[in-house]
Amino acid sequence: MPPEQTPQTSSHARRLPPWLKRPLGGGPEYARTADAIGQGHLHTICQEARCPNRGECWTAGTATFLILGDQCTRRCGFCSVKGGRPAGFIDNQEPGRLADAVARMGLRHVVITSVTRDDLPDGGASQFADCIKTLRARVPGVTVEILTPDFRRCQDEALATLLPLAPFVWGHNVETVPRLYLSVRPGSNYADTLDLLRRAAASPGIIAKSSIMLGLSETRDEVLSVIDDLVSIGVKRMTIGQYLRPTAEQFDVVEFVTPEVFSELGAEARRRGIPWVISTPFARSSYHAELSEAGCSSPSVSEGQPSR
Ligand code: SF4
Repeated sequence: MPPEQTPQTSSHARRLPPWLKRPLGGGPEYARTADAIGQGHLHTICQEARCPNRGECWTAGTATFLILGDQCTRRCGFCSVKGGRPAGFIDNQEPGRLADAVARMGLRHVVITSVTRDDLPDGGASQFADCIKTLRARVPGVTVEILTPDFRRCQDEALATLLPLAPFVWGHNVETVPRLYLSVRPGSNYADTLDLLRRAAASPGIIAKSSIMLGLSETRDEVLSVIDDLVSIGVKRMTIGQYLRPTAEQFDVVEFVTPEVFSELGAEARRRGIPWVISTPFARSSYHAELSEAGCSSPSVSEGQPSR
């Protein structure tokens, strides 16, 4: 990523460079994960966002659950989750089915995310809370990570609902640099994102986490500035990954950032004050979320190899 990169036409970006080619996955372990998800009639962001790590993660027996349905009330230009109008619907059985699937899968660390639900008065915070409580009741010792929307217009309610359930990891993604918000995240704003993270990070027992995608025309200085913002508000975990176009309907990739640049930016993020960083082309918010600080910088993670 050159310091003063300008957006390019992206016809060159349609062919993946060698470091972005990965096996699709399969085999009995992968099938077991798929069965547990299918039996629970659950959604995963692994599928909805067409995550390139599915082969690795599902073969390792892990997945990231997508709650509150599969219809998002916003349409971000990088995301393949379908848009829709869920009209206030909440599935009250979802927390129980989620907990059953986690028990079947034998997960010790669970990552739960959701579509954005601007149609709900609390943005869906109470469903996150029910999932956390049900999980803890059915799977003793489980640790929880949530990756939430920005709870625009209901941050106070969402924080009041969720903070008493600490300890857990609270992830909320910056996704990109502030200059690109209008095109990449219309309907969201950088200040709200930082505000949610700051308030979560300031609460006892909450580890705040965020993620950024590279390859959308951001400059190195802009990325470093985001890292500094995250450090200043107390974010302790971060992933930095390559944006990959999920379908032809989303933005094309402007640049494929090399693994060397990811590695250097990861070291810089640690140096600037974020202790847990995964910075590789395949990093996604939930990628190797179960790892300790020491584990997240191990060579197998940097190279995108299964951790177990
Ligand atoms: S990185 Fe996260 S979203 Fe992607 S396959 Fe793994 S668990 Fe699923």
